[in-house]
Amino acid sequence: MNTDQLREQLKFYRDLGIDEIYLGRAPAPAREVHIPPPTVTQGATLPAASAALPSLAPEGDTLLKIRQDIGDDCRRCRLCEGRNKIVFGSGNEQSGLVFVGEGPGADEDDQGLPFVGRAGQLLTQMIENTATKEGIPIRRPDVYICNVVKCRPPENRTPQPDEMEICGQFLFRQLMAIKPKAICAMGSTAAKAILGTKDGVTKLRGKWHKWRDIPVMVTYHPSYLLRPYNQDAKREAWEDLKKVLHFVYD
Ligand code: URA
Repeated sequence: MNTDQLREQLKFYRDLGIDEIYLGRAPAPAREVHIPPPTVTQGATLPAASAALPSLAPEGDTLLKIRQDIGDDCRRCRLCEGRNKIVFGSGNEQSGLVFVGEGPGADEDDQGLPFVGRAGQLLTQMIENTATKEGIPIRRPDVYICNVVKCRPPENRTPQPDEMEICGQFLFRQLMAIKPKAICAMGSTAAKAILGTKDGVTKLRGKWHKWRDIPVMVTYHPSYLLRPYNQDAKREAWEDLKKVLHFVYD
C-alpha cells in the first residue's frame, strides 16, 4: 500500500470514528455469547455424514438444536478436512438483525467465533460507531452474526456451490429460528446463498430484497472494504448499514 492509499484508508476509519485499526491477528473478543459445540459422550452417535436434512426447519427449532445437529465433527462436505473449529455464529439469539458473511478465516477457525479477525474488527466498529452516530443504542453483541459455511475454506477461497448448499441449510435454520426483522448479507457469497441470485453486490446493494418474508439488505463484505482503491464502496457500505439499523431499531 502506498502513502496515498494508506492516507485514504486512515481517512475512512477516522470518518467512522475509528482511531485505531488492529493490523495483526485480533485478540479474542469479550462479551460475545456463543453456543459451545455439543459435548459428545462416549458411545454417542453423531449425525451420519450423509444424513438428509429436513427441507424446512423442524417445529420448535432452536439455535442449540441446530448446533447439536451439525455435530462435533461434521463431515458433510470437504471443508471439514482443513478446519480447526466449526464456526456456528455468535451474538443475541433474539436479535432483530442478523449479519451473514461468507465463511470463517484463519482467526475465526482458531477461535470458533465469526468475524474476529481484521474484517471482523472493522465490522464491529462499523456497527458500533454507526449506531452511536445515528443515536441507536446497540453494540455488536446485540446483533447476531454468522456465515454461509461454518468451516474455513482452504486458503480462504470462495465456498463452492455444493458446500454452500450443504451448509446453507443450517444457515436457513438459524435464520428461521431467530426470525430477525432484517438480514444483512455481506458480500456476493451471502447474497447468492440467501437470494439465490447470480447478480453481483454492486447491482444488489442498497436495496431491500426478501428471503421468505424477511427483508434482506445486501452490502459489501468488510474484507472488501479493507482493500485500498474503493472509497465509493466504503461510503456505500456505510449508507447501507445506516438504512438497516434505522429499519430495525427505529
Ligand atoms: N469473513 C467472513 O465471511 N466471515 C468471517 O467470520 C470472517 C471473515
